[in-house]
Amino acid sequence: MADVKAHEQDDTVHERVLYPEHVQRTESAAFRDNKHILTKKLQLGCWVCGTRENLEVHHLHEWALWPKLDAERVLEFLRCFDPYGFSRHMGEQPVESPDDIRNLLVLCEEHHRGVDTGVHKLTYPIWLPQRAVRGGGEITVE
Ligand SMILES: [Zn+2]
Repeated sequence: MADVKAHEQDDTVHERVLYPEHVQRTESAAFRDNKHILTKKLQLGCWVCGTRENLEVHHLHEWALWPKLDAERVLEFLRCFDPYGFSRHMGEQPVESPDDIRNLLVLCEEHHRGVDTGVHKLTYPIWLPQRAVRGGGEITVE
């Protein structure tokens, strides 16, 4: 018998972000090309659930925070988290834009922006394990 029974926990996260001054985002040619490579050429599905429906492409390092980030530290992270192997192939090539293919992750709309499932809505310790839930079950409540 488990010490702690299954239970629901309701947390409210209040996030205050200091975005640096940045240009208004527009979809760059690099982003369009890389999205095409990931979703059409490589036929990748959502990194969390695998679906090929309603696919979007997520920036691992947020576009609007880019002016505040150290490119070498970004590359260091992307060498560790390299789900498609691009960092391994591109070696020391600097990451010069948030639209670099190494900084992109294919997600379905639900796991990207979904209120109770999206990477933009949940904390990391709750969002990430959704990928490993047995039998495709859910770990969040609507
Ligand atoms: Zn998904």
